[in-house]
Amino acid sequence: MTARPQDVTPGQAAHELLEVRDLGVEFTAPDGSALRAVRGVSFTLRRGETLAVVGESGSGKSTTALALTRMLPGTGRVSTGSVLLDGRDLAAAGAEELRAVRGARIGMIFQDPMTALNPVLTVGRHLDEVLRAHGKRDKAARRARSVELLDRVGIPEPHRRIDDHPHQFSGGQRQRILIAMALAGEPDILLADEPTTALDATVQEQILTLLADLNRETGTALVLITHNMGVVARSCERVLVMYGGTVVEDGPTAEVLTRPRHPYTAGLLAAVP
Ligand code: ADP
Ligand code: MG
Repeated sequence: MTARPQDVTPGQAAHELLEVRDLGVEFTAPDGSALRAVRGVSFTLRRGETLAVVGESGSGKSTTALALTRMLPGTGRVSTGSVLLDGRDLAAAGAEELRAVRGARIGMIFQDPMTALNPVLTVGRHLDEVLRAHGKRDKAARRARSVELLDRVGIPEPHRRIDDHPHQFSGGQRQRILIAMALAGEPDILLADEPTTALDATVQEQILTLLADLNRETGTALVLITHNMGVVARSCERVLVMYGGTVVEDGPTAEVLTRPRHPYTAGLLAAVP
């Protein structure tokens, strides 16, 4: 299909923000055999879109997420396919470009906020280092921006809390701090991998609501890996269902949830409050 003139700004190619085509990921088992964790995964993410990724444990959600920024652990490697960011194939990106992609283009938030924070550094230092890595040279401006980011993610009295250490915050607050760090690079995509699994139900809900609010306010696209089907139904426009390392459903949330095509998805519906 040819793009209509109003779809494309002159001089700009009509690329999707993120395009994943036929992605495959393998790990090497201890006996040397190849373990195919992800097979033939394809999807696109538009600017500002909210995409949920659901699926049982071991279905390949985290592996897919990590493959997007070439952060696969251990023996993991991309065995097939491509990941295009604004049309640029990340397979062609060098180490420096990939470092810039992580953070400045794709901000990542993981499950356990404590392992991602250094216990001996203040929250202000954490944010300061992220902002410095993103080229913010002025120390006072970094401090002001850090307070602003902490305020944005809902840390009360941020100008006073900025010099506190991670252990002085609750689990939910630590996750908020990690979200602030992910926002510091002003990424086009926030990728959150089960960001609330370690938190109690009320706090989970608050954090997921914060992510949805940030998407609405800043236009940052959100990829949310979660088991919380209530939040998926309320806050995500599209849902991808993974099963056994493949994508078994991809469509508008309302459609997938009301007319599931795969038996696994049908089972999930029982979990929607
Ligand atoms: P999910 O996030 O959906 O729970 P994962 O992406 O973590 O699933 O895992 C998908 C598959 O990849 C699983 O079979 C898992 O055992 C395998 N896998 C994940 N990480 C590693 C690793 N570091 N080494 C070997 N196999 C792994
Ligand atoms: Mg996972």
